[in-house]
Amino acid sequence: MFRKIGINAIEVRKVQQLSEIDGLVIPGGESTTIVKLLTRFDFIDQLREKVHYGMALWGTCAGMIVIARELADSYPIPLNLIDISVARNYFGRQVDSFEAELHIDGIEGDPMRAVFIRAPIVQTIGEEVMQIASTDDGQAVAVKKDRILATSFHPELTSDTRLHALFLELAKEAREDPRRNRSTEESPSSV
Ligand code: GLN
Repeated sequence: MFRKIGINAIEVRKVQQLSEIDGLVIPGGESTTIVKLLTRFDFIDQLREKVHYGMALWGTCAGMIVIARELADSYPIPLNLIDISVARNYFGRQVDSFEAELHIDGIEGDPMRAVFIRAPIVQTIGEEVMQIASTDDGQAVAVKKDRILATSFHPELTSDTRLHALFLELAKEAREDPRRNRSTEESPSSV
């Protein structure tokens, strides 16, 4: 989807690659597995630091679970990168997957078709976090804080690239942020 809009997107497999990017998407999948792999491959501290210094971050579906502050479930332990609490598998099992039309703040034009697959919802939202989309019955399914975006659905499964374009804007901002030039390698940890 990013390549479609002309972005040089890479798959991040090693923690060192976090230095090459302005924005990271943690995609859908299985959140317990993603947290296990992030831990095993030593991503957590670097990821936290990059986000702290302004890297753009987008968690979709399982990715939203991974970056939440707190979960209604016992697993996994989320990374607390955005102040939301999230309930996994809120809409039920795989067979309860569905599609919906969503109005998303910041996206012009027609509503977006969104694909929900064993999707989570946002149950509570911190004061500084903006709810940018909800289902017809009022469940929050997309939120944003600064350069962090979290969505319950799978934006890669339709041909609509408008949310990707919005994320690209956040990544561009990150690229220009002078704080991004700082890193622990360059600045002593005593500072
Ligand atoms: N149900 C999955 C989880 O809890 C998320 C599903 C998805 O990413 N489509 O991790």
